[in-house]
Amino acid sequence: MYHTPYQETYRSLQHTQRWTPEQIKDYQWQQLKTLLHHAYEHVPYYKKLFNIRGITPDDVQSLHDFQQLPFLTKETVQEHTNELKATNYPTHTFEETITGGSTGFPLRFYVEKGVWYAKHLAYIKTLLERAECHAMDKSVQITGSEKPWEYRPLSRTLVLSSYHMTDQNLPIYVKKIRRLQPQYLIGYPSAITMLATYMKHNTIELKAIFCYGETIYDWQREFLEELFQCRVHGQYGHREQSVLAGTCEKSNSYHIFPDYGLVELIDRNGRQVTKDGESGEIVATGFHTGIFPFIRYKTGDIAVYSTHHCECGRNYPLLKSIEGRVQDFVVSKTNRLVPFMGVHHLVAKSTENVKECQLYQERQGEIVLRVVRRETYSEDDARRIQESFHKRFGDEFSLTLTCVDSIPRTNRGKYQFLVQKLPIHFSP
Ligand SMILES: [Zn+2]
Repeated sequence: MYHTPYQETYRSLQHTQRWTPEQIKDYQWQQLKTLLHHAYEHVPYYKKLFNIRGITPDDVQSLHDFQQLPFLTKETVQEHTNELKATNYPTHTFEETITGGSTGFPLRFYVEKGVWYAKHLAYIKTLLERAECHAMDKSVQITGSEKPWEYRPLSRTLVLSSYHMTDQNLPIYVKKIRRLQPQYLIGYPSAITMLATYMKHNTIELKAIFCYGETIYDWQREFLEELFQCRVHGQYGHREQSVLAGTCEKSNSYHIFPDYGLVELIDRNGRQVTKDGESGEIVATGFHTGIFPFIRYKTGDIAVYSTHHCECGRNYPLLKSIEGRVQDFVVSKTNRLVPFMGVHHLVAKSTENVKECQLYQERQGEIVLRVVRRETYSEDDARRIQESFHKRFGDEFSLTLTCVDSIPRTNRGKYQFLVQKLPIHFSP
């Protein structure tokens, strides 16, 4: 009997979530071997890479050997796009994808037309089910789309654009949400938070909220869970299809799907992170990327490692949190990398008279805070922000406040808390 890639993946996920750690390890090793052989035989970039080193995939005999292979960087993908295409896939199966990349550096690559999305949907379905939600439930998605709103009857989804969340549109958004009575919300946490702030206590009943695309800050999770009286789930992944993870019924740790790809965390000295609570850059190898292999791909995202075993019973590798992209760090006067997750909270705690704000850095140790004021904003607020900032960071940074009319969204409609103009390398 023939199953579509969607059905096949979904069925397989029912088994893999009950795998023992040994089964996961064996499966991943087999997948790595298959991928390396495929890349060597059919992908010119990798053929050359092995030849230069004078080895073949048969010489990679352990995970340790595998970890000696060079990283694939975004720059390499950009320079060698054509050589990274597998030669044994027919031309019509290549679907071009362009993502934002880091510091506005666009990344072009290919996925397998029709197949990647079907597989991906199967994974998303299992993530929804962890919150007792279903693909056919009525839902509201808040994302960067061109139309301010659009109803998709097939998936029963109301899509609202985070670009267009203006004072003018927000009442219309809320009216539309109320009329639909969705079971869940899904989207960028900043956009959902903005909507929730506008709805205040006049909210709707939801089964869950799913966030993706940006780091979920603790204050956002607390605020949304309190307001909607439901759980906030996190999803992490990207179009490069090398890593996908999500929180579960029991915890806020990100469970990495072991059949989606292999994830390594690399610390600032280039070593594998093995200790609980340590952070590193996510380096991923995608098992579904035969058409354009991502092998030891440096994602530029930073996560915190967890050695815990989750109560839900899945033996998936865990990440305690996703800290954000490398570009989400600011550089102090002493060249220390400081994650800027808490600064918005710090500003919010100092004053209620700031509508929105954004951090901007182009010089080491210097930060500009762009502030959209409420009418009630005064010099007193500016002073309070400076004080709490100084209390937290001392002389490591100097802070300049500038008032702006609005904070523009990125070209994908995301809210950018920090615009980092300095080039930042997390690991060597
Ligand atoms: Zn769990």
